[in-house]
Amino acid sequence: MHEMSVALAVVDQVAEAAARAGDVTAVRSVRLQVGELAGVVPDALAFSFELACAGTLLEGAELITEAVPGRARCTPCAHEWAVGMPPRLTCPECGGARTDLLTGRELQILDVHWEDGGPPHAPTREPISEEC
Ligand SMILES: [Zn+2]
Repeated sequence: MHEMSVALAVVDQVAEAAARAGDVTAVRSVRLQVGELAGVVPDALAFSFELACAGTLLEGAELITEAVPGRARCTPCAHEWAVGMPPRLTCPECGGARTDLLTGRELQILDVHWEDGGPPHAPTREPISEEC
């Protein structure tokens, strides 16, 4: 299940950052940016996240997902459009198939709130790396 490997990767990255930070006793929430085309179902991810957190520093942490709509730009005519779901990757203006995906593949941790109630931490803005 894709969402489970994403959830495990998120928990790993947050737990690692918390270990580096020192006195973190628990994690309250994790905010995750999820592109529309990242292939992640938010409900399934929330469920997997809860399971992945069990028995870790993140137990009981809230997962806040921020959806990023997919947008593409046509290379020949520079028209931009929302790709939607299922994604439309040919240009609605000229029918061209040479397009750049501008947004929609995001899958990254935006910030994490530790138990100490301090300001948001940004342990990493790197894409989630999955082992699969
Ligand atoms: Zn075009």
